Amino acid sequence: MARKTILNVKNVKARYGPIEVLHGIDMNVAEGEIVSLLGSNGAGKTTLLNCICGIHGTKGGSVEFEGQEITLVSAEKVVTLGVSHVPERRQIFSTLTVEDNLWLGASHRMRKVNKKEILREIDDIYEMFPILAQRKWQMGGTLSGGQQQMLAIGRALLSRPRLLLLDEPSLGLAPLIGKKILEIVEEIRNQWETTVLLVEQNARAALAISDRAYVLNTGSVIMEGSAKEIMNDSRVQSAYLGKIHT
Ligand code: ATP
Repeated sequence: MARKTILNVKNVKARYGPIEVLHGIDMNVAEGEIVSLLGSNGAGKTTLLNCICGIHGTKGGSVEFEGQEITLVSAEKVVTLGVSHVPERRQIFSTLTVEDNLWLGASHRMRKVNKKEILREIDDIYEMFPILAQRKWQMGGTLSGGQQQMLAIGRALLSRPRLLLLDEPSLGLAPLIGKKILEIVEEIRNQWETTVLLVEQNARAALAISDRAYVLNTGSVIMEGSAKEIMNDSRVQSAYLGKIHT
């Protein structure tokens, strides 16, 4: 049975000042999928995520989440609708403790949800990232890069998103830590029943956990398909996977 489309991006255009950087993007994500956005530097991947979550205004086209148009909805409201975004530079609160950063992730649910339930979810985050449990009273800004990434993901999960947007989760991390973070993305999809749209510099590792992928080049989708098809494509192999074809 075909899975329900959770995110539908239609002909989305975006600009910075006079320069158009997204030229009409069409893409969709089905419930329960992990979908990767690949592409070289400056292709428009971050801008597309920012358009979806309401940080960057679109200049044409539409974004629908669970059938509801969210194109011009503010970033604060989009979170309450069920879309959570972990930006490239993580943006955790450096002068708050790990635990307080996690509580902030649940802030918009506080009025509706029992505090005990949120405490249970925080325990689930600590189970997923034991190092955060050990550091729960440490200031966010003093964590290592990998620990900050874990905290940013944990905080995003506490808003109980049905769609999680992850921008370069392994950026700047030691290869093993980056790999571990991507393994956890798969666990998140399975255990938190969260659909994931992933931008990741490590195309090979991203494709290994993805169902499908889109390849962007200078603001346009140039290829889409199952992760397997994209992985086996000779253009992708030479441009993004480091394989040289003779
Ligand atoms: P990377 O992989 O390097 O992070 P990306 O695929 O995420 O790149 P974007 O960051 O979305 O690409 O950038 C798309 C284009 O928009 C690039 O040409 C970039 O220079 C431009 N751009 C991004 N942010 C701004 C900004 N704040 N002001 C002006 N131009 C911008």
